[in-house]
Amino acid sequence: MNKKNISDVDLDGLRGRTVIVRADLNVPLDAGVISDDQRIQASLPTLRRLTDAGARVVLLSHLGRPKGQVDPAYSLAPVATRLNELLEPRVHFVPHTDGGAAVDALDAVGEGEVALLENTRFVPGETTNDPALAASWAALGDLFVNDAFGTAHRAHASTAGLAEAMRSKGGEAVAGLLLARELEFLAEALRLPERPFVAIIGGAKISSKIGVVSSLLPRVDRLLIGGAMANTFFRALGLGTGDSLVEEDSIGVAKELLDQGGDRLVLPVDCIVASEITPDAERRPTGRTAVQPGDRILDIGPRTRELFAGTIGEARTIVWNGPMGVFEIDAFAEGTVHIAHAVATACDAGAIGILGGGDSAAAAQRAGVMDRLTHVSTGGGASLELLAGAELPGVDALTDRSS
Ligand code: ADP
Ligand code: MG
Repeated sequence: MNKKNISDVDLDGLRGRTVIVRADLNVPLDAGVISDDQRIQASLPTLRRLTDAGARVVLLSHLGRPKGQVDPAYSLAPVATRLNELLEPRVHFVPHTDGGAAVDALDAVGEGEVALLENTRFVPGETTNDPALAASWAALGDLFVNDAFGTAHRAHASTAGLAEAMRSKGGEAVAGLLLARELEFLAEALRLPERPFVAIIGGAKISSKIGVVSSLLPRVDRLLIGGAMANTFFRALGLGTGDSLVEEDSIGVAKELLDQGGDRLVLPVDCIVASEITPDAERRPTGRTAVQPGDRILDIGPRTRELFAGTIGEARTIVWNGPMGVFEIDAFAEGTVHIAHAVATACDAGAIGILGGGDSAAAAQRAGVMDRLTHVSTGGGASLELLAGAELPGVDALTDRSS
């Protein structure tokens, strides 16, 4: 990667210096209580590396979608409390977002300690990437560490803006451990993948993943399509899909992708259909050419499971985004679970298996294969952008290796 990361920083020189860190502490809250602290846990390695070196850390994050004004429901105060329980050095909570307003409170923060500022989205300049707001944070120190992969595809003041402000005052902006790992797997591994290289794309909507499919298609050996996306391709082939979810507007694009992909694009040969999306609906496997009016396609069928698993078993690099069916309901989870096991088995045998997407990660968790996969990406939108070959503004703005 041509961007600097935290491993390029001289840790010995950090004692007493102020380092500004943008993390992704956007945890789910249930009536003010954190219901899942995974993102806080995930931010600890970068924070520990800096506090162990004696840096004073000013920590920034957004939480939820407050509309550019203070909204107590989205305060980071509960996150500061949790962070204080998890991290050895003291974590101070500073109830200000703007760097200028926070300055006095930072006097109390000692070497190796952390100050978490209030939600970056409590001020309007965050999402408009206001240079003055970014400069107010950059003024607090001379090193910026961006570890927030989930927001790297947005040019916000605390991501791209702060990196630019830091560089323009002569400081450095580098990737944190989490961000560096995401880039290593999603961008670097895909540039020169070991072959066969197989992508599996599923999920609800083809329209949200056209970019990914068309960018991966020329680079892969096989691209397996499942989930509701496959239905739109079936229609492009002139097949009936009953009452299944289909994006009529995307049938034309699906046709183009079929032409472009040839043998590389592999559709399901059979599916599981039911008349309703309910746990006890009567389900029936059927060939893709025999879907009846009133049928809903809700999973890939048994022959497709074997077909896809066979292709996955021969792969050396696998990228997977999107479940194969309505996996939230047991009756329609079999295809997704089967694929999850096939990917995990390939990883056990030395293949690189990369999973992206929030629902896909939930499916892998459900299948019990999470820790057998090479890498599970944490950012939904950002990982799709990277897979689609797009540049991420939050990464683009970091200091180049050569400089
Ligand atoms: P990810 O979050 O991994 O990127 P998506 O958000 O694109 O995945 O899609 C996940 C959703 O797709 C799930 O809620 C799942 O129920 C739905 N889905 C998958 N297959 C079908 C189908 N055949 N019909 C309707 N919904 C489907
Ligand atoms: Mg999703």
